[in-house]
Amino acid sequence: MTATVPPATTLPDHIALAEQWSTHNYHPLPVVVAEAQGAWVTDVRGRRYLDFLAGYSALNFGHRHPALVAAAVDQLGKLTLTSRAFHHDQFGLFCRELAELTGTDLVLTMNTGAEAVESAIKVARKWAYEVKGVPADTAEVIVVGGNFHGRTTTIVSFSTDPTARDGFGPFTPGFRVVPYGDTAALQAAITDRTAAVLVEPIQGEAGVVVPPPDYLPAVRRLCDANDVLLIADEIQSGLARTGTLFALDHEGVRADLYTLGKALGGGILPVSAVVGRRDVLGVLRPGEHGSTFGGNPLACAVGRAVVRLLATGEFQERSTTLGAHLHGRLGDLVGHGVTRVHGRGLWAGVELTDRTGRAASEALMARGVLCKETHGTTLRMAPPLVVTEAEIDHGIDTLAQVIA
Ligand SMILES: *Cc1c(COP(=O)(O)O)cnc(C)c1O
Repeated sequence: MTATVPPATTLPDHIALAEQWSTHNYHPLPVVVAEAQGAWVTDVRGRRYLDFLAGYSALNFGHRHPALVAAAVDQLGKLTLTSRAFHHDQFGLFCRELAELTGTDLVLTMNTGAEAVESAIKVARKWAYEVKGVPADTAEVIVVGGNFHGRTTTIVSFSTDPTARDGFGPFTPGFRVVPYGDTAALQAAITDRTAAVLVEPIQGEAGVVVPPPDYLPAVRRLCDANDVLLIADEIQSGLARTGTLFALDHEGVRADLYTLGKALGGGILPVSAVVGRRDVLGVLRPGEHGSTFGGNPLACAVGRAVVRLLATGEFQERSTTLGAHLHGRLGDLVGHGVTRVHGRGLWAGVELTDRTGRAASEALMARGVLCKETHGTTLRMAPPLVVTEAEIDHGIDTLAQVIA
């Protein structure tokens, strides 16, 4: 990739344009990316960076994976949108292939992660009324502290992050928050009106937080004992990020509903879904839920190519082996600028001893490695699963320099 770089004076100031013309709901690192391939991105001046964030796991297969780009280009030449008013020749195949990959019965297609979570909440409420027999409009969904499930008004209603929530009320009722990892608190919060427990098996946004080993199996047992659905939000943790298809697989636990997004679109376009049990997703009837773009031909064609990549097991395997290497290297930094490391597979929350995640991200960027803080002193690392061992070493060597 040899980009011809115009002299600096003729380059538009993209950062100034964004500052002037876009809402300030993000605080990006001052890098302007123009091209990317695999684990590497190139900025407008031709400088290359190792991508250690992978679009928060939306780029699990790296930038522009050839099989995914080929599927998209092929579909662009045929059909891109029908709306769900008509059938198309990618939809049923995508749903069958995704259901088979995930070992589930039914697929509800949406676009963004937040929509998948909203959809799962709607389905759980309807299931509670129609199947469980909860009195109308009284169903509750239990969520956990530190959660991140998206940015819609309903979802921020049960966020425990003041920045996500303050100023956006009035909030949607019907949610109860209990501490993450606390089985007793969960048990105490369950009532006859509880429809579901919604949980991230590993909390990404909170800092790649892994719960205590017995927690998720205990959540499953409590759900079973009380006729409550377990909804696993695997939008960031799923699709090979932790070495298995779902992060929940490590615990030998199955959810009733899974929300999927991010990597399901192969880093090309937004594709999300709720997958799960027939007797739960089956409560939806025509007209009760939908999306103009959900399950569109282009999304389904790319989603099918993603499913094919995941079916090989190659990416799960890479995440397991390379993840062990990543965590080994990070472990060696504990006591040398790193206080603690958590996470699983090619996914790590790195707690820094004496600098903020933001300061470290900026210093890493200056040395050609891109990653991002979650909150405060935690740095999130989620390289694309196509990264090599040598590239991981390069990333960690660079981190070691930055925090030395
Ligand atoms: C990113 C994310 C979402 C929201 O997805 P969007 O596509 O940004 O709406 C929901 N849940 C989890 C766990 C996520 O990481």
